[in-house]
Amino acid sequence: MIYKFSIKTERENLYNVTSKVREAVRESGIENGQVIIFCPHTTAGITINENADPDVIHDILLGLDKAFPDRREFLHFEGNSSAHLKASCVGSSQTVILSEGRLLLGTWQGIYFCEFDGPRTRNFYVKVIKD
Ligand code: ZN
Repeated sequence: MIYKFSIKTERENLYNVTSKVREAVRESGIENGQVIIFCPHTTAGITINENADPDVIHDILLGLDKAFPDRREFLHFEGNSSAHLKASCVGSSQTVILSEGRLLLGTWQGIYFCEFDGPRTRNFYVKVIKD
């Protein structure tokens, strides 16, 4: 089963979408299997990271800015190569194990939609696969 979600984003931020993923799992009625969370955009991505301290999100964004700054040497006509690099770095999808109706995330883990080139209306997909 595939579920599609929309999200309105700011210029650059990470959005905790764990509750949306859990909603898809509940609706599917599937108890055991795998859940794929996929982002169909080239300047956004999906990652799993800490859900307790919001400063971690701040630091991830800061670290990605330091790692992938805008550069005059970039050729891409849209001028958003830094966002493309960040998106490739975090990746377009994550897979989580589903066991007895529960996502096997760690206590401090959340699933995040990563916007690197907003504001936009974005989509992501959740596919629940039965074992
Ligand atoms: Zn571009």
